[in-house]
Amino acid sequence: MAKAVSNVDVNGIGMTSQRTRERLIQRLVDQGITNLKVLDVVRSTPRHLFLDEAMAHRAYEDVALPIGFQQTLSQPYIVARMTELLLAAGPRERVLEIGTGSGYQTAILARLVGEVYSVERIRPLQQKARQRLRQLKLRNVHMNHADGGLGWPERGPYDGILATAAPERIPEDLLQQLAPGGRLVIPVGGETQHLQVVTRTHEGFDTQIVEAVNFVPLRPGTVK
Ligand code: SAH
Repeated sequence: MAKAVSNVDVNGIGMTSQRTRERLIQRLVDQGITNLKVLDVVRSTPRHLFLDEAMAHRAYEDVALPIGFQQTLSQPYIVARMTELLLAAGPRERVLEIGTGSGYQTAILARLVGEVYSVERIRPLQQKARQRLRQLKLRNVHMNHADGGLGWPERGPYDGILATAAPERIPEDLLQQLAPGGRLVIPVGGETQHLQVVTRTHEGFDTQIVEAVNFVPLRPGTVK
């Protein structure tokens, strides 16, 4: 069973939102999302709470939306797809997320896995995300203001790692923080990027290339 979110402001943008949300879920199904738990959690997580007021009316469209600092909240299809890939080999207990951003993907993960460790390099984005997750009473989220390209070694190893910013090459630190059987879901590349799933096996790493994607770049260092 997925964890519930409290119903604080869940219907905050009125009755039309329920229909619009159902349309979004149908679109995700049409695009090949099959994990029912993931669909259920996307349906019942209020994406409008993760956007500034000026953008909130577009929250249930299947598009990426700006969140400030030249960053974007990922398209719902991509959030659902990456989450489904992360969970495809069974439930995950400890998940590291690189790029908290708005906190939307963090919230989706928090409702489906044991504990989420989320790293963000831009402090003001992290602070807003923290407030939203608190409002939704998601208490299994731990946040770090740091360069996520280095992972979060003190809390590892992880049986899942999900990155929402794209490095040119997969950082070695992330691979090293994967537990045996652990899965890393990550966009990789520069101008052209592909979503990759890396599984740590007893022999080494097994890489699967999934589909072309378009993420903001993973950047070094932190911003206050
Ligand atoms: N999952 C987010 C997507 C935000 S966009 C959401 O649902 O809103 C990607 C995020 O990755 C941005 O917030 C950006 O600041 C962050 N990011 C980029 N490079 C990073 C790094 N090295 N460490 C941590 N976060 C990083």
